[in-house]
Amino acid sequence: MNSVEEHVLERVHSRGIEFITLWFADVSGVLKGLSIAPEELEDAFNEGIGFDGSSIEGLTRIYESDMLLAPDARTFQEIPWENEHRVARMFCRVLGPDGQPAFRDPRGVLERQLERAAELGFTFHVHPEVEFYLLRSVASLSEEPEPLDRAGYFDHVSGGKAHAFRRRVVSALESMGISVEFSHHEGGPGQSEIDLRSAPALIAADNIMTLRTVVEELASREGITATFMPKPFVDEPGSGMHVHLSLFEGEENAFYSAGGQYQLSPTGRRFVAGVLAHAREISAITNQHVNSYKRLWGGGEAPSYVCWGHNNRSALIRVPLYKPGKSSSARVEFRGMDSAANPYLALAVILAAGLDGIEQKLDLTDETEDDVWALSDSERQALGIEALPTSLSSAVKEMGRSDLVPSVLGEEVFAYFQRNKVAEWAEYRRQITPFEYARFLSVN
Ligand code: GLN
Ligand code: MG
Ligand code: MG
Ligand code: MG
Repeated sequence: MNSVEEHVLERVHSRGIEFITLWFADVSGVLKGLSIAPEELEDAFNEGIGFDGSSIEGLTRIYESDMLLAPDARTFQEIPWENEHRVARMFCRVLGPDGQPAFRDPRGVLERQLERAAELGFTFHVHPEVEFYLLRSVASLSEEPEPLDRAGYFDHVSGGKAHAFRRRVVSALESMGISVEFSHHEGGPGQSEIDLRSAPALIAADNIMTLRTVVEELASREGITATFMPKPFVDEPGSGMHVHLSLFEGEENAFYSAGGQYQLSPTGRRFVAGVLAHAREISAITNQHVNSYKRLWGGGEAPSYVCWGHNNRSALIRVPLYKPGKSSSARVEFRGMDSAANPYLALAVILAAGLDGIEQKLDLTDETEDDVWALSDSERQALGIEALPTSLSSAVKEMGRSDLVPSVLGEEVFAYFQRNKVAEWAEYRRQITPFEYARFLSVN
């Protein structure tokens, strides 16, 4: 045991913790957990906790179903919403029976990419903006749900439930050591946004997993439903998960340069160029569901085209303004990802795309100042602006042509992910939708 682990053991004892849940994510980004008694903790740190991984989405092949969970002591936090018992959680590494990192652990995929960045001298920092909808409790999973309120962007709803709910979420997150920068009502009725303070990417991804869990837990306790579905309503904005990204070299923000356009350094420009160059092939990861493409192509300020801009909310990447003199906050905002993404895999492919731009010294094209949705196809073509995939099916095809995505995910996760998404599309394609009944059922 190392000193952090010893400290956790002491805390468990002194705080009278009764259960410790070991958290990890499956390939789809769904949170999984296993509870252990405090007496098991020392063993868990020393040897890992054995479990049968065979029925976890994408985790193992049948013949290597005995897996180990190795808790990451740095992520130890008490769970504030458990009032019957004292419960704490830790995120885990998933190991194979031989004690080696499991190929299909999404957290391990991100860790490998962060090691690559470290070899180039960089640490990767991420500030996520997570959007979601609050709904009146959902009676039927096959009908359009009803939002909790009818408010809009930044609205204060007097006596409204949503802001009180957000405050409870924020204070639960803060008590778990997750710093929230701000929270507000988003554009759609019942839509909220919570923005987490910038953190090293692995912590940021863990924080996103925790945020989604806290929101769902508190909502269900209050008899409402929270959804991170990318596009729940045809005529309302979808739920994006914008991420503000920066690379640091030691204490220095490598994206900052006093003389650069928008104070973006050559490293920052190459990073953006890399993400744009790979944007289409990584979208199956950043936008992993059939419903994701309804957000990307459904308006509501979601990006549909591959371009960047300074103050252009139709662009896939935005280089925002930051406070003068605050070079540490130099960053770029990737606006493509949605709230249902697996944050480990998504951040891993975005980082790899950016690093590729840096390594290949890719040139950044000119920014797009116009509203790209308002341009005609031929205008966009003349400007060299490509479209993002319009469906999961075309995104999976783009991913299939990629060298980058399989190299980041590893052959195992890649093959599983691809199979899973082909199946999701095939199942979706068979459906007869309410739209089709309304349009085609009767000829009169
Ligand atoms: N909801 C929008 C999206 O899906 C973003 C809106 C905003 O934050 N300005 O990306
Ligand atoms: Mg925002
Ligand atoms: Mg927003
Ligand atoms: Mg944003």
